[in-house]
Amino acid sequence: MLLIRHATLVTPTQHAEDSAVLLDGHEIFAVGHDAVLHAPEGTQEIDAGSRLLVPGYIDLQLNGAFGQDFTADPGTIWPVSERLPQFGVTSYLPTIITSPLETVEQARLEVLNARPNSYRGAEPLGLHVEGPFLNIQKKGAHNPVYLRQADEADSVMTTATWSPDSGVRLVTLAPELPGATAMIEELASRGIVVSSGHSNATYQEALAGFAAGIRYATHLFNAMPALGHRAPGLTAAVLTYPGVVAGLIPDGIHVHPAVIKIIWAMKGPEGTNLVSDAMAALGMPPGTYVLNDFEVMVSDEDCRLEDGTLAGSILPLDEALRNLIAITGCSLPEALATVTTTPAKLLGIEKERGDIQPGMVADLLLLTPELEVHTTIAAGEIVYTKDYHA
Ligand code: ZN
Repeated sequence: MLLIRHATLVTPTQHAEDSAVLLDGHEIFAVGHDAVLHAPEGTQEIDAGSRLLVPGYIDLQLNGAFGQDFTADPGTIWPVSERLPQFGVTSYLPTIITSPLETVEQARLEVLNARPNSYRGAEPLGLHVEGPFLNIQKKGAHNPVYLRQADEADSVMTTATWSPDSGVRLVTLAPELPGATAMIEELASRGIVVSSGHSNATYQEALAGFAAGIRYATHLFNAMPALGHRAPGLTAAVLTYPGVVAGLIPDGIHVHPAVIKIIWAMKGPEGTNLVSDAMAALGMPPGTYVLNDFEVMVSDEDCRLEDGTLAGSILPLDEALRNLIAITGCSLPEALATVTTTPAKLLGIEKERGDIQPGMVADLLLLTPELEVHTTIAAGEIVYTKDYHA
């Protein structure tokens, strides 16, 4: 067992000074007074030194990091996962962008079957498949060669193997494509979170997609119609529809801070989900990196194709959380919800992850007062400590 003492416990639902948490293997055994009472003699202890103890972060969109791109090489998923805890990420969805459907199959099998022995690190919960059923007019950094319609027979056949149990958790598609409505209904009925994104959907087309089962919007405002006061489009549909969670990349480049304030006012902590949408250059110096088939020029600030199109981010998720607080002035519990309870509820895993409660997976972070990651515990194992890695 492992006892964490003298921590300021903060989650979207709790706040307690000088609190404690007792871990038993990969699970949380007790919280608060109970934790101290139940710790057997000789239990290993961590003195949190009044640092903040918060739930581990969940990233629903991450394309790669540390020089590796999951779509270019799905074999890099596990080695990258191992190093994500330095950003506070304890579970996430490896994201495969538009590519031949065989690449999705390869990545799916990698997540399901290639887990290294005695693995320690962030948990890949299943894939976020972003494409190939996207609108070519909003393709962003996706290769148009591999875009498909949702009613092609071999597409329907390939997606028949997709489910959360088979390693597919979230699918981004454009709801206005031919065949999309049937695909949304089918994927949603299997428990996959279906998301609208890389889409030119009108307001009405968006609502039709929501009615069919869409519950998420991939990087709201990016790769979708601009908000027009007479042509509200998908963007306004997401902002005004309570049942759809908005994915947001708060790096100050993908969406202007003023627009982040609009999103926050409309969607709040339960309707907003911060993602990194990080690509291979996350955790690396500026230079030229790969996003699937394309070269991406990465500066200190952003990642762009040769023609200037944004191609993912280099935003660590812990920085995303700090940015949201700086831009909106929201509280820490509210900001935490966007990377813990909100994504956990969306995936239907809110009883296992996203909070600090007995019986949940022991995914925990100790944060400094500046909200930087000091220590990361993933499934009960200390997988990152700032002192050793600085
Ligand atoms: Zn995208």
